[in-house]
Amino acid sequence: MTSRFQELSDKESKYFFHTYKRLSLDIVRGEGSELIDRDGKRYLDFFGGLAVNALGYGHPAVLTAIREQSERYLHLSNYYIQEPQIKLAERLIKASGLRKIFFANSGTEAVEGVIKLARKWGKGQGKTTLYALSNSFHGRTMGALTLTDRPKYREGFDPLLPNVGHIGFNDVTALNGAVNENTLGVVLEFIQGEGGIYQVSREFADSLQELRRRYGFLIIADEIQSGVGRTGKFFGFEHYGVQPDIVVIAKAIGGGLPLGAFLGNERVADTFEVGNHGTTFGGNPVACAAGVAVMEQVIDGRLMEQAGRTGEMLLDAFHGMRAELPALIKEVRGRGLMLGLELTRPGQAVVDELQRMGILINCTNTTVLRMLPPYIVTRQECDRVVAALREVFRSLA
Ligand code: PLP
Repeated sequence: MTSRFQELSDKESKYFFHTYKRLSLDIVRGEGSELIDRDGKRYLDFFGGLAVNALGYGHPAVLTAIREQSERYLHLSNYYIQEPQIKLAERLIKASGLRKIFFANSGTEAVEGVIKLARKWGKGQGKTTLYALSNSFHGRTMGALTLTDRPKYREGFDPLLPNVGHIGFNDVTALNGAVNENTLGVVLEFIQGEGGIYQVSREFADSLQELRRRYGFLIIADEIQSGVGRTGKFFGFEHYGVQPDIVVIAKAIGGGLPLGAFLGNERVADTFEVGNHGTTFGGNPVACAAGVAVMEQVIDGRLMEQAGRTGEMLLDAFHGMRAELPALIKEVRGRGLMLGLELTRPGQAVVDELQRMGILINCTNTTVLRMLPPYIVTRQECDRVVAALREVFRSLA
């Protein structure tokens, strides 16, 4: 660690509320799938800015879009119609098959907007209760936090929103017992990210659709982590043949700039009226221009399919490792480039050892090694990660 980094780290401890556990890495630059520290050491980044850096670092299409839009204008306010917003809206509406969009700055803000949209839609219909699933993560602002199930995020912040309940993940009986004509909606990650890469079962997804037909509630998909091509399809729910009424995205869509959005179908298209919702920065034109570049690369440039194929190859390799080391690797989960290896012991030692070897991954839920690499990651880079993991696992087993 350089003395410069020690100085930065001391100032961080002195000046910041202690909300983050920072990594002991002094990153000065990113290139492609790699991060480079002050000493010039390169790290292969399978942490991926927690699913933001889908195109890696310094992607020319994103940089060009940002440069060109910054020279036109950085901000106008939402009093103005802005071409980058319109272009991105058009692409997202086409990709989702939904009707209307609202741009926010982040995932949690987009979730807040969705809670408002759903509540307004349910007024007068007697539909009041929103359900989310156990082990879910939907953000940290008060509404999104109420949907988030995990105690470690919620404790100390009571009272949260009323009329929100939680249903056991993949528990079809609990789902049947919970929803009725008073249900406003069910909010879910079809692939849970923070919770440890757990996929909704087909049975649960089918029951959800069937119950929506019966009771008329909204299906609200949180695609903040799984969306924008990460799982090999544009949205995680596409693997289930479900068409949600509302979809939330953020993270990868801004190409590294802060951007979130929610989209809704014809059922909710006319719910909001002028003044019902708004934001100063949401839909920032530079972020939206970057978003258009992301869409072009992910869809037209077929990076989404590449993410799917690369993910299959990695999953195969991880299943092979599990067969070899079942006492250490409990389960392999995921789709596309949203991957989790659940260990039978805490994963931090593996994360630390990989970092020493120049590879960055994340550990969530104590025992789950989570990998969210950029879609541009190459076969050779994946082989390197697989070989390194195998070496570390063997030394631990
Ligand atoms: N929903 C999901 C599924 C997420 O993974 C996250 C962030 O990790 C959020 C919501 C919150 O997004 P943000 O951190 O942009 O507020």
